Amino acid sequence: MRLSRYVLPVLKESPADAQIVSHKLMLRAGLIRQQAAGIYAWLPLGLRVLKKIEAIVREEQDRAGAVELLMPTLQSAELWRQSGRYDAYGPEMLRIKDRHDREMLYGPTNEEMVTAIFRDTARSYRDLPRTLYHIQWKFRDEVRPRFGVMRGREFLMKDAYSFDMDEAGARHSYNRMFVAYLNTFARMGLRAIPMQADTGPIGGDLSHEFIVLAPTGESDVFYHANWERPAELSAVDFDDVAGLQTIVSGYTADYAATDEKRDEAREAEAGEALRQSRGVEVGHIFYFGTKYSASMGLKVQAQGGEEVVPHMGSYGIGVSRLMGAIIEAGHDDKGIIWPDAVAPFPVGLVNMRVDDAACTAAADALYAQLQAAGVEVLYDDRDERGGAKFATMDLIGLPWQIIVGPKGVAAGTVELKRRATGEKVDVATADVVARVA
Ligand code: ATP
Ligand code: MG
Ligand code: MG
Ligand code: MG
Repeated sequence: MRLSRYVLPVLKESPADAQIVSHKLMLRAGLIRQQAAGIYAWLPLGLRVLKKIEAIVREEQDRAGAVELLMPTLQSAELWRQSGRYDAYGPEMLRIKDRHDREMLYGPTNEEMVTAIFRDTARSYRDLPRTLYHIQWKFRDEVRPRFGVMRGREFLMKDAYSFDMDEAGARHSYNRMFVAYLNTFARMGLRAIPMQADTGPIGGDLSHEFIVLAPTGESDVFYHANWERPAELSAVDFDDVAGLQTIVSGYTADYAATDEKRDEAREAEAGEALRQSRGVEVGHIFYFGTKYSASMGLKVQAQGGEEVVPHMGSYGIGVSRLMGAIIEAGHDDKGIIWPDAVAPFPVGLVNMRVDDAACTAAADALYAQLQAAGVEVLYDDRDERGGAKFATMDLIGLPWQIIVGPKGVAAGTVELKRRATGEKVDVATADVVARVA
């Protein structure tokens, strides 16, 4: 993509209303524009990152055996009356009437709808277990939308729903998501800590919030120092019930809790190793038994012919919130530092002197070679000062910068800069594509 033909409205100054660094940088780097409180347009560069985050989430859901569908954003009030949640949900729900005066709502979550779909399609034990998921916009009329996409009113969520014949099956479905979540966040360079969360009236230990530590996070969290290690990927067979349980038990062995679920005994046990911090909830998984299946009349036939009410769980990831969390974890005073996995473009190509024929010819040739090699590249071919181009590249945080200047071109070299470290090396022009591909 040539920057001269792109839409990248970067800002020099931080907008006054942005309080935290990720929000400031998202506005300054031209990723989003606010359209109303908590409602954002995703500008071209921001959309590219959102799609990359979404793709990682989707791959890990698929790997864990979940099946994708797409449910609408608008739902009928009738559906929510069946579960009894229409009145209970409160003012966070955006309620709408259509021209026939039918009550509708913009979905804040999809338990009711997915239960109704499963009720209308699943007949017997052969149709279970299943986990369905979608990646769809949600609306919650938050009292205090703030921090940009971290607490929006309209936001993108991945939500999955599992259906099992019994509680043991549901636990396995839960464990699949537990491990899939850790892998998902690890691929984005994030250490998300699974913290025991409130299960409400059902009880048990089957609810975890996945929290990324950040001083600007909205949750108060307490955890064992063992969590202060880089995130790792688990290579697992998601059908191995015992193996998966072992991994989950391993992860839950080290204490971690939000302030609602603090455990004095375990904190005493942690002693000197107890840490306190703030964090961002990027995911939440939940087993809730037959709450929706029972209230909405979902039943399937068991092998022996008797009717069974399936056990369910739901599993959310804040896809758009993750972008804020990733920036909170990766930035410096110059701007964003994207992890390779979600960078809008892995490479930025800078032509220092568009008025210099040899320099432009060399930059154009590299642009063509990078594209031919399948490397997504943002090519700064604008007639601007070098300093402004460097500042823009550092602000938008592409992992690699290739800088083409007249002196280097004469010597057959370009400069290769790694955004994360600031390290710069001269590289033979002929070798640079291979270095970044
Ligand atoms: P919070 O505690 O931050 O209000 P929640 O517990 O209400 O979140 P869930 O119902 O668990 O949210 O939804 C699943 C995920 O959706 C959350 O873990 C979070 O990552 C994301 N999410 C929830 N509300 C918002 C929001 N207003 N803006 C962006 N993402 C959100
Ligand atoms: Mg909430
Ligand atoms: Mg929460
Ligand atoms: Mg939650």
